Amino acid sequence: VQYVSTRGGVAPTSLSDAIAAGAAPDGGLFVPSQLPRVTAGFERSGDALPEVAHALLAPFFSGDALEPELGPICREAFGFACPLVALGTPEDLVLQLFHGPTAAFKDYGARFLTACLRRMASRAALPLTVLVATSGDTGSAVASAFHRMPGMQVVLLYPDGRVSPRQAHQLGCFGDNVTALRVAGSFDDCQAAVKAAFADEVLRERLHLTSANSISLGRLLPQMVFHAHAARSFGGTLNLVVPTGNLGNALAAVWAREAGVPIGDIVLATNANRVLENFFDGGAFVPRPGVQTLASAMDVGNPSNFERLRWTFQDDAALRSRLTAEAVTDAKIEETIQHGERRHGQVFCPHTATGVRVLEGLRAAGDTKPWAVVATAHPAKFETVVEPLVGHAVDVPESLAALLARPAHAEALAAGPGALRAWLLARVASSG
Ligand SMILES: *Cc1c(COP(=O)(O)O)cnc(C)c1O
Repeated sequence: VQYVSTRGGVAPTSLSDAIAAGAAPDGGLFVPSQLPRVTAGFERSGDALPEVAHALLAPFFSGDALEPELGPICREAFGFACPLVALGTPEDLVLQLFHGPTAAFKDYGARFLTACLRRMASRAALPLTVLVATSGDTGSAVASAFHRMPGMQVVLLYPDGRVSPRQAHQLGCFGDNVTALRVAGSFDDCQAAVKAAFADEVLRERLHLTSANSISLGRLLPQMVFHAHAARSFGGTLNLVVPTGNLGNALAAVWAREAGVPIGDIVLATNANRVLENFFDGGAFVPRPGVQTLASAMDVGNPSNFERLRWTFQDDAALRSRLTAEAVTDAKIEETIQHGERRHGQVFCPHTATGVRVLEGLRAAGDTKPWAVVATAHPAKFETVVEPLVGHAVDVPESLAALLARPAHAEALAAGPGALRAWLLARVASSG
């Protein structure tokens, strides 16, 4: 399979080269020239997560230099479970994606991308600098995956004061080859600064910049796996509610379905950022500045993967017929967390709560189909929101506790591309 740009301005490219490049050079995003279908190998594969991953992703890697390495890459990336857990009734489920080292679903994609880049690195110039804008969870997942890896430098930008205290701690606690920059601005500011750095030839060449943002195919493709694994283990057509920000996770679910995995309806649950809801209700797609909400990892006003979602379907009418979106306000997020234990026997993080709320709405409207809400993070990452609502402390998973026990440090940085450029150039100068 070859990869092309959503904007059509790039010659067909190998998967390895598309992963190494991050964004397509014409300003678009890389997509497979044709979405592969699941193969007999997928139908026949065992149920273990790395096996499902290998069988599902094999057609996407066919003909690429990484193809022979796909088995070991999947074993590295899919080393922790993603259980499908019932919420009281067999038709109400959650797909828990937070059992990795940093307690959010981003661990899968970050580890998969790292496993790919590590195998490609011998062919690239070292050291590589992985530059990442994060709304909270991507940064720590990438840092954890790259920590102490020879030849790799990681620079994380996050919006100061707009991630949870524990997320901030996780971002700053790695040290060594990982630097955290707390930016005086929003996530969109961080993303704009990183985009400008990638468009800057001097920076790209001097620092050997590489991307680990959710636009990277190395993160997007593996996210198809847990949806496919969940549908298989359910054993019938499974419908999904996906808490959505930049649209990476939900797009992966859509691609899995279009490839032939037995996934039925998909609903995008967003926070009060309504760009997607407006579009799916028939309006135009109009990006706007992100507003701050309790589900901060979804505070996105211009979901970058929308361009890929549009590419996937013939036209907007076809897209609207295959997906819906619903925005959930902070008040409803709070209410859902507050009553989560009584109604469903579980404590939810604010992101997962948007999805649970959407499911509750479907049931109230009489829907009886089986639905899985994708649980994107562990509630202990957002304890300052969750604990006052549920009225007790939330147990901290072991891996998260280990990170919180380390000292943390982040450098302050002004918003705007100029500040990041100056910081990066100073760093190259000082390292000789
Ligand atoms: C990143 C993130 C999301 C949103 O995922 P996208 O792929 O950006 O749509 C939702 N919940 C949590 C906890 C996240 O970290």
